[in-house]
Amino acid sequence: MASAARPLVIAHRGACGYLPEHTLVAKALAFGQGADYLEQDVVATRDGELVVFHDLTLDEVTDVATRFPGRQRADGHFYCRDFDLEELRTLGVGPRRGSAGELQHPGRFPESGGRFGIPTLAEEIRFIRGLIHASGRAVGIYPEIKDPAWHRAEGIDLGARVLQVLESTACADPPMPVFLQCFDPAELQRLRREFNSQLPFVQLINSIYGQPSARELETIAGYAQAIGPSLKLIYRGRAGKGAATTTLVDDAHSAGLLVHPYTFRSDDLPVGMASFGELLDLFLRQLGVDGLFTDFPDLARVFIDRHLPA
Ligand code: CA
Repeated sequence: MASAARPLVIAHRGACGYLPEHTLVAKALAFGQGADYLEQDVVATRDGELVVFHDLTLDEVTDVATRFPGRQRADGHFYCRDFDLEELRTLGVGPRRGSAGELQHPGRFPESGGRFGIPTLAEEIRFIRGLIHASGRAVGIYPEIKDPAWHRAEGIDLGARVLQVLESTACADPPMPVFLQCFDPAELQRLRREFNSQLPFVQLINSIYGQPSARELETIAGYAQAIGPSLKLIYRGRAGKGAATTTLVDDAHSAGLLVHPYTFRSDDLPVGMASFGELLDLFLRQLGVDGLFTDFPDLARVFIDRHLPA
């Protein structure tokens, strides 16, 4: 059962199917491609600044190893938290690479080097406001609090800091649409209780935890407005001629929750899917999700405009 509103196109780390993830150019492209929301993963620096970056470590998408040799921890990784903002500003961001330097998505934008940098959360929100101002088109932000328990052990209350920055930027007049997401249920519950945040919360759900029960969804509905499940918790592969799907979308809707699954990639289709169009059709038209995280906002925008007209 679909809910009434048109499904949202959430640009996963920007239009990261085309440009290096979480760079401002990737956000600008996603905006131009008609995304409804632009995602920000948020981690903290050594000097307590908040930057838009996906990993706790810098290894896979920056040139940190050549620029700051010797600054890795005992585990061999370079952590954002070990660098001041001014140091992070000197890093070049490029395509995601494996430990042997191989491109993780060989078909995507391949250039590395100093062209692209890491923005702070506040800078990125100002940048997006600028795009809205110049175009007259609205867009929302979709920040994620990355690993709050790890950050707390590192001496920083990341959730509280994110709320603080949002309060003075996205929530300032005129307020932008915001969804705040996190994998850690205790953190979202705490932010609701302790800080009385009125922002819509999204409980992310990793596929390793399995499909949540009706009772668990009811608990989530007590503090969140949406779930962001892995698409693997909804699509289970082929079943004869059709797709095997779970009841999660209907169950969540019954609990009053919106459903924003992740991650839709045209260059990395789930097993059994012949095309990106088939995948979008299943989730958007047949299952009726309320939005989806995609690396390719243009393709989702075109599909929705063509098949789910306003
Ligand atoms: Ca994320």
